[in-house]
Amino acid sequence: MAKKETTCSFCGANRANVQMLIAGVSGHICDSCAVQANRIVSEEVGETNVSKNVLKNTTEINIHKPAEIKILLDEYVIGQDEAKKVLSVAVYNHFKRLKFSSEKEGVEIDKSNVILVGRTGTGKTLLAKTIAKMLNVPFCIADATVLTQAGYVGEDVESILSRLLQAADYNVESTQKGIVFIDEIDKVARKNDNPSITRDVSGEGVQQALLKLLEGCIVSVPPQGGRKHPEQKLVQIDTKNILFICGGAFDGIEQIIASRVNRQTIGFSSSSEENIENESLLKYITPTDIKTYGLIPELIGRFPVLSYLEPLNENDLKRILTEPKNALIKQYISLFDIDGVKLSFENETLDFIVKKALEFKLGARGLRSICEAILTDAMFEIPSLNLKTFNVSLDYANSQFSKSKIASLKVA
Ligand code: ADP
Repeated sequence: MAKKETTCSFCGANRANVQMLIAGVSGHICDSCAVQANRIVSEEVGETNVSKNVLKNTTEINIHKPAEIKILLDEYVIGQDEAKKVLSVAVYNHFKRLKFSSEKEGVEIDKSNVILVGRTGTGKTLLAKTIAKMLNVPFCIADATVLTQAGYVGEDVESILSRLLQAADYNVESTQKGIVFIDEIDKVARKNDNPSITRDVSGEGVQQALLKLLEGCIVSVPPQGGRKHPEQKLVQIDTKNILFICGGAFDGIEQIIASRVNRQTIGFSSSSEENIENESLLKYITPTDIKTYGLIPELIGRFPVLSYLEPLNENDLKRILTEPKNALIKQYISLFDIDGVKLSFENETLDFIVKKALEFKLGARGLRSICEAILTDAMFEIPSLNLKTFNVSLDYANSQFSKSKIASLKVA
């Protein structure tokens, strides 16, 4: 007697004509009937439990409109309107991509990784940090200068993800939606524009290693950081939805921009007398300039968004001192307030602090150390005195500052 051929109990197709036959108690179903059955069930029952779960996870992300993101950034970061605008759009698109990519079938929205170019202390890290806080997603800062390619002394690029995992309290799912800020990306630029040169460990090697993370792949991460070793249990992190923001000063990039812009201007119209000041050249930055600087094209390709931060002038520094939600002066006022002392500053004192920050080329980062130099004695003595008010006059600030360590650092 001939053996009965196995067929799909629904459409009758035999095994040779289908990809898969799933056996039931008294029959079989082929792959295409199973898909069709799933569709019918979804239509009849409405939302399936599976899609409910997906929604539950993605709705936890709080999507703000770009204009709202910018307003929130304005509360903490002074100036830098262009970078704020670009970053707000990038973040908005990134989270739209997270939330809706499963619904927009067929259209794969690319990631919006960002490179921020600007002098040190102009607010690159602060922007990234503020965004992460606002969105309530895990955030970590990695320093590109300590990274090396696998097998060399230094930190593996995977260590970045260990840090993000720690910031997320070891919750893998939220780690996978976090934001990583990689500082000093310019320091891993290729030293030589010749791509055939043997790989340098600290430069191109690191760029190549970073590519892996940026491409969106599953990376095995040692949860406690450090080197991978056989005894340590590794955690699998999918980097597909992690937003990477890189910052760098790119010292000297103005010359690269200048020579490109001038070349183009000449090619365009020989009579053009456009005179672009060095200070404002950063606004003309393009990915080509970053490439000339020494980042490899593959890496640049993973950063579709490029923006710049302006150098901070006297007016910006004064605003930084007093305006942001957690401005330094506000912080000192709170500290004294806890001791029942009403602290105030003469306007000239604020100008003095700003002038010293510029004079010592300390930028915004220096404001804090200058304030400390001026206020340390007061913070030491006042809690033991029965004072109700303390006014920081210009004379007081000047005399405190001149006997501080910073004052002695001045190079002739
Ligand atoms: P970088 O550009 O080197 O990443 P940061 O963002 O770390 O600079 O800035 C250093 C510090 O200076 C910040 O913590 C912040 O206090 C202050 N700062 C710098 N730029 C700004 C800004 N535009 N607005 C407000 N504060 C700023």
